Amino acid sequence: MKILTPNYYYDSIYEVDLDLLKKNKIEGLIIDIDNTLVGWDTLLPTITVKEWLEKLVTLGFNICLVSNNNQKRVMYFSKELNIPFIYQARKPMKKNFLAAMEILETTNQRTAIIGDQIFTDVLGGNRLGLTTILVKPIKSKEFWWTNFVRKIERRVIKKVIK
Ligand SMILES: [Mg+2]
Repeated sequence: MKILTPNYYYDSIYEVDLDLLKKNKIEGLIIDIDNTLVGWDTLLPTITVKEWLEKLVTLGFNICLVSNNNQKRVMYFSKELNIPFIYQARKPMKKNFLAAMEILETTNQRTAIIGDQIFTDVLGGNRLGLTTILVKPIKSKEFWWTNFVRKIERRVIKKVIK
């Protein structure tokens, strides 16, 4: 179970203790996109996300976005960021974690992965001995809304049938 356990767990990316990462000599950050930075249906980074990423750069972290999503999604999302990215990464496979570390010019001891999924982000990171940071998935508003509407629909339908 240790391989599936993150080193740190936070409610959101904004809670990640950057001072602690600095203290632990982390220099490179591999960051997931979908449900980590934004909801899966949010096409572009929000201003808050942009500011957070800029803060990381200012603090001296090297960043690489690593997503299992397709080229179109990842390229469009990253177009204004000026941050390297890897799409169709097939996390938890090791290959693109290693590719990211090459881009970041860091070693596994100096790299952390930040993501929302245990079976891709955390497992992949732990397999290579990275620092693994799990954040609560951002629930897409539309998705939540759709679920909510469906629940109500079901209730209404039940009542109507009665
Ligand atoms: Mg994700």
